[in-house]
Amino acid sequence: MFCQILYCPHCRNALAEMPDMYLCQSCGQSYPIVDGIPSFVDQNTSMDSFDASAFEFLFGMEERHFWHVGRREIILDALRTEVLNVAKSRMLEVGCGNGSVLGYLKQNGVSIEGGDIFLEGLRFCRRRVPSAVLYHIDLMALLFRNEFDVIGIFDVLEHVDDDERALVEIRQALKPGGKLILTVPAHEWLWSAFDVTSHHKRRYSKRELVGRLERTGFDVNKASFYVFFLFPVLAAIRLLGNIWRGTRRADRNNRTPSYPELQTVPLVNEVLLGLLRLERLLLRHTGLPCGASLLVVAQKKQGAS
Ligand SMILES: [Zn+2]
Repeated sequence: MFCQILYCPHCRNALAEMPDMYLCQSCGQSYPIVDGIPSFVDQNTSMDSFDASAFEFLFGMEERHFWHVGRREIILDALRTEVLNVAKSRMLEVGCGNGSVLGYLKQNGVSIEGGDIFLEGLRFCRRRVPSAVLYHIDLMALLFRNEFDVIGIFDVLEHVDDDERALVEIRQALKPGGKLILTVPAHEWLWSAFDVTSHHKRRYSKRELVGRLERTGFDVNKASFYVFFLFPVLAAIRLLGNIWRGTRRADRNNRTPSYPELQTVPLVNEVLLGLLRLERLLLRHTGLPCGASLLVVAQKKQGAS
């Protein structure tokens, strides 16, 4: 365990650690430890109605699906390339969910902790990665000040209304000179029913994302598209799919959605994973000019709080 001070998400003063909870002596708020996970999210806002079985379905799918496998390999590669001493850097993944990225990075020697707004996801993550240090937290009110060398946020920023506020929270949680690594879906014109089902608020242009990072106190070290080779096919499918689906409403209760994006077809999956692995090698040396997703590595600006 690390010796650290956690800060009250309500009043931002330091919390006292008790045997079974954290207590804010400034505002009187107490935060329980649930199944070994300190919980700083009001149960009323934590969306407990989320179907926990979805995490199980997603974890199984994410173990095989080329996009998830390829993405976590690209993330590890970017960490090794852009962040020196990965093993010695203390990393937090915000929005770690069921831990499919966290578990992979931990297996590969990254000293990583996880936070998520969904307690069910964290419980699942804990089952998969028993040694993981986890926090039940809201990205909009992080508990940390100058705490982490690296923060990762992978396809999460597009889910929050006020993404600039979220980036400020992340900046404050980073040590001076700390790195942020993030992925988001790219190109607003690729918006489809799948974005709606996924509760996305937006997709990003590269310029827009870089601008938001610079406005919130980051220097951008690397910003590249990925999912490059598949991009023309994906763009055609999305555009045709949008026309075909029309105004069809997504069924949020469907545990195994029928969207082709979530299916893994053997052989096709292997070929597409091979293409993403090729992109990973290219990304070591260059940026890719277009793609369905964006990968950014940024650094907390000197002198930023
Ligand atoms: Zn407080």
